[in-house]
Amino acid sequence: MLEIIADLHIHTIASGHGADTIRTVCEFACKKNLKAIAITDHGPGFPGGAGITYFMSLHRLANNIIFPLKIITGIEDDIKNRKGELTISDDILKGLEIVMTGCHPFTWIAEQRKRVRTDAVVNAITKGCVKVFTHPVGTYIDIELKPVLDAVISAGAALELNTSKIDKTDVIMDLLEKCGTNNIPIVVNSDAHTAEEVGSFDEACRLLDETGFPEHLVVNRSKESIKSFFDIVWK
Ligand SMILES: [Zn+2]
Ligand SMILES: [Zn+2]
Repeated sequence: MLEIIADLHIHTIASGHGADTIRTVCEFACKKNLKAIAITDHGPGFPGGAGITYFMSLHRLANNIIFPLKIITGIEDDIKNRKGELTISDDILKGLEIVMTGCHPFTWIAEQRKRVRTDAVVNAITKGCVKVFTHPVGTYIDIELKPVLDAVISAGAALELNTSKIDKTDVIMDLLEKCGTNNIPIVVNSDAHTAEEVGSFDEACRLLDETGFPEHLVVNRSKESIKSFFDIVWK
């Protein structure tokens, strides 16, 4: 079975509704033999999300918390308008190693019509800073998938296979088929909000096997593919 070596979508207490600290997350990730984790808390667009100073400090935190794994700095920021701007400014986003966005309840995008929502997501991805669109299916905040897939392809971004939202199997299978056919990379992530959830990939790996999904399109299958896809330094 395919092995996922890194969990690249993890929330901590800094998101406002996560249970654990970066340190505790690292302890559990090490127990699961993960080679890397990405700390990707919500930004200020999400009620209770972390503020600018947290993301500006994240490199320092990641460098000084010592565990036998790579701590990658990231964010799952929200979109704040139809132009696709995120709630954190580009200069701060550029200082983070993994920038992701997704559609969440209680945010600007949740209040929009499907058309506006889709435009916002397409524009956010097209701007180039966002490398992963999180939980593209399986949430009640609906978007038009086709234009989003086109934007992901032209921006060289990836879609997420989110293991916390994997219950609608037919929808997920359909998405995997589209990704496989169109050479769209995917990232398999837990979206953990507790340390115990970190690295929960079994169901996702089973689905990938079952669908015969091309392994080379799974970004977090190896250190080299993570480094080259996200252009990060990892010795
Ligand atoms: Zn999310
Ligand atoms: Zn999340």
